Amino acid sequence: MHGLMMGSPLLISSLLTHAERHHGATEIVSRRTEGDIHRYTYRDLARRSRQVANSLLAAGVKPGDRIATLAWNGYRHLELYYGVSGIGAVLHTLNPRLFPEQIAWIANHAEDRFLFFDTTFAPVVEALQPHAKTLERWIALADIARLPSPTAIAGLESYEAFIGGASDVLEWPLFDEGTASSLCYTSGTTGDPKGVLYSHRSTVLHSYAAALPDALNLSARDAVLPVVPMFHVNAWGLPYAAPMVGAKLVLPGPGLDGKSLYELFESERVTVSAGVPTVWLGLLNYVTAGDLKFSTMRRTVIGGSACPPAMLRTFEENYGVQVLHAWGMTEMSPLGTVGVLKNKHAGLSREEQYAVQYKQGRAIYGVDMKIVDDMGRELPQDGVAFGNLLVRGPWVIRSYFKGAGGDPLEDGWFPTGDVATIDADGFMQITDRSKDVIKSGGEWIGSIDLENIAMAHPGVAMAAVIAVRHPKWDERPLLVVVRKPGVELTREEMLRHYEGKIAKWWTPDDVAFVDTIPLGATGKMLKAKLREQFKDYRLPTA
Ligand code: ADP
Repeated sequence: MHGLMMGSPLLISSLLTHAERHHGATEIVSRRTEGDIHRYTYRDLARRSRQVANSLLAAGVKPGDRIATLAWNGYRHLELYYGVSGIGAVLHTLNPRLFPEQIAWIANHAEDRFLFFDTTFAPVVEALQPHAKTLERWIALADIARLPSPTAIAGLESYEAFIGGASDVLEWPLFDEGTASSLCYTSGTTGDPKGVLYSHRSTVLHSYAAALPDALNLSARDAVLPVVPMFHVNAWGLPYAAPMVGAKLVLPGPGLDGKSLYELFESERVTVSAGVPTVWLGLLNYVTAGDLKFSTMRRTVIGGSACPPAMLRTFEENYGVQVLHAWGMTEMSPLGTVGVLKNKHAGLSREEQYAVQYKQGRAIYGVDMKIVDDMGRELPQDGVAFGNLLVRGPWVIRSYFKGAGGDPLEDGWFPTGDVATIDADGFMQITDRSKDVIKSGGEWIGSIDLENIAMAHPGVAMAAVIAVRHPKWDERPLLVVVRKPGVELTREEMLRHYEGKIAKWWTPDDVAFVDTIPLGATGKMLKAKLREQFKDYRLPTA
């Protein structure tokens, strides 16, 4: 017997319709590439998104066509989020931090038709244009007076001119909620990048989950500033979840340095933010140096790579900002787990609570999760056994775009490539990426723990632990450290810092001091590059 309720499809356009009708006057504030602050409301966003949709339809864009962006977090990018997906076309957010040739490869693979880009990326667009095979139109997110000039971009158009003449009247079309809505390529640290194709259904369900109190806890009382870029897994879903709950949105544009961010946090009374640890390092340095405080910020989501415990403590103890340590991946839209304490933790000491918060958190409903051994046998949730982490659920990938890489699933589960423990309360802790684990004498050493300890040393700006060949143990850990400016720090002091904190055999065999650690396009340490750099390194123990 079927239920007798409406079968309204879960469409992205419904988020916008809801925000326009019920939160129409709520603000969206953007720092523009033009340098000024732009403010308007959800009502304006809805109106201009309909103009975008009408312009795309008039230009011959059909359902399923891929429309690409190379853009910062800003209101025009948001209009494309809704205008493109709303008519059944696919929004493809390209990552401008990749090399132009890589971007062109991805755009060609996706067969993108139009490219909308921020004027700051004009040089990138100039470099990629000769390699792009399917792009037909090149539209800068600016009015005619502000088009980049001089420029080598052939056929350059202005976004404001493109949408300017279009009607803002449109009935958003209804279609199957399984329709593709947006496309994001994984960074491809191994092999070619692969496309993850989200649907309207997966996106809307993910937004519901993201807003839950034990997830990002979003509401109409919040002002949300996503530092995480809208080209990095849809800014972790915030451009969809904010209109769903009617939260104010603050979009930082290209200003991701500590000073610019801090100014926006304060002037726009931001309550929630989200970003990768490397961004927060910059912000914390700025705030600490100026002896500043956050007057309205309550929570920040930190994920994408492990939040160093020292950072978590600094936010909570010095600034009264709750850290929501989150884990996920492009293939998961991206949210999987968030680390919010349970009632049973309320009576624990602060130290014991921190020990729980350092973990990557509990699964949000919608993400089913388990750990298995190399034979695929499920391991106990005792917080000790660690194994390959598998996930499944309505916003987890089933297949990569165009079937790239074959069937990724194992028995209906998606193998995340992460190695983790899960404790009896459901808190998951990543011990490593499976390819970053250090295999010493048949035993595994997790690099994340070792990096966290190093990062807690006051003289350390950044730290990575990688495997280096060892004649006896096969692999042993090498600690690679970037010192804070002007700090003297020796190998001996660094190694002493590990005493009593870990099993002795986990201690790195050596320390290498470097000026920089290579970062990838989403701000993560490129360990594969580091391993390459140190591949002939001779450990003193070898
Ligand atoms: P890519 O895998 O292409 O680098 P993603 O953004 O999809 O890009 O990265 C997902 C991976 O990032 C996860 O599988 C995990 O290894 C790592 N990651 C994400 N969040 C965390 C976290 N909180 N702690 C540790 N690792 C994390």
